[in-house]
Amino acid sequence: MSHSPDILTDGFGRRHTYLRISVTERCNLRCTYCMPAEGIELRPREEMLTFEEIVRLARLFVSEGITKIRLTGGEPLIRRDIEELTRRLAKIEGIEALAITTNGLVLPRKLDALQKAGITHFNISLDTLRPERFRDITLRGGFETVIEAIEMTAASGYDPVKINCVVQRGFNEDEITDFVAWTEHMPLEIRFIEYMPFGGNEWADSLFISYSEMLDTIRSSYPTLQRLVNGPNDTSKTYAVPGYRGRIGFISSMSEHFCASCNRLRITADGNLKVCLFGSNEISLRDAIRSGATDDELRPLIAAAVSRKKASHDGMYEISRSDNRPMILIGG
Ligand code: SAM
Ligand code: SF4
Repeated sequence: MSHSPDILTDGFGRRHTYLRISVTERCNLRCTYCMPAEGIELRPREEMLTFEEIVRLARLFVSEGITKIRLTGGEPLIRRDIEELTRRLAKIEGIEALAITTNGLVLPRKLDALQKAGITHFNISLDTLRPERFRDITLRGGFETVIEAIEMTAASGYDPVKINCVVQRGFNEDEITDFVAWTEHMPLEIRFIEYMPFGGNEWADSLFISYSEMLDTIRSSYPTLQRLVNGPNDTSKTYAVPGYRGRIGFISSMSEHFCASCNRLRITADGNLKVCLFGSNEISLRDAIRSGATDDELRPLIAAAVSRKKASHDGMYEISRSDNRPMILIGG
């Protein structure tokens, strides 16, 4: 074989085992922290990867050491026939986890099919437990459906169901302890995510709340909160209230980044390989595939992109001024 056995290891010795694939740029919500207020331009379907292209790339990455794939977007569940794509990905030998991040709006209708198709983990996004606020943050309705989706997913045996909650000052920071209370009887892991700057999301320092501030807030109501042991590549710092069924975690991408142990790569819906969520460095695997590249020709392209990955992102102030794409176009 002509390729190096380790094309997914970068110049800092980080081995990449986790691939996030965005399957659509479209969404049925308009979360203010994720996309520009004026919306995003919908690009033609032909510019998006086909299922064949996604499965081919997934196979290639898995053969090079990826063991976990997450489907994201945009809203992945509105990509037509997502169950079929899931089925095809789940069959790839070597995949140990096939996860999906969803806003939950169409999950009640698709849960059963996705479970049968092979989804091993669900992350469902929900930033508020108050219906009127849900509308303020997402600019759409559907709160009750998301709650139903979470309850159904937990009842289907997923344990934990991870809940992604982006915390912003002045929007939902007063609900942090309500979310903790929700873990008393439910198999949930609430992941409090630091608000991150992206193109067009009008990031402002005043909206940012660090994980340590969130932790202080929780500790004042739950003084017995305990830190749990994390795995080597966990991005989340995990805690639990003793005796509670579920747990909580913090994703401190901004205040305490975890770049040194980063094991992730991303493929955007239009087929760009993105080695860092916060870097604008992208290469088009779609263009290479469509111009006839074989797998042996794709490998050096991938290796070169991975080897250019930087040691860490530039810090939240620099990022907030960079020209990165909006989150909805990157795939969270
Ligand atoms: N539509 C799906 C969803 O909302 O779960 C998947 C895509 S979404 C881009 C993935 C995750 O990114 C969501 O949990 C969302 O809350 C998070 N996210 C989006 N914009 C963010 C930002 N500016 N800061 C932190 N997290 C963000
Ligand atoms: Fe859509 Fe998810 Fe972005 Fe909200 S966070 S606008 S649900 S892609």
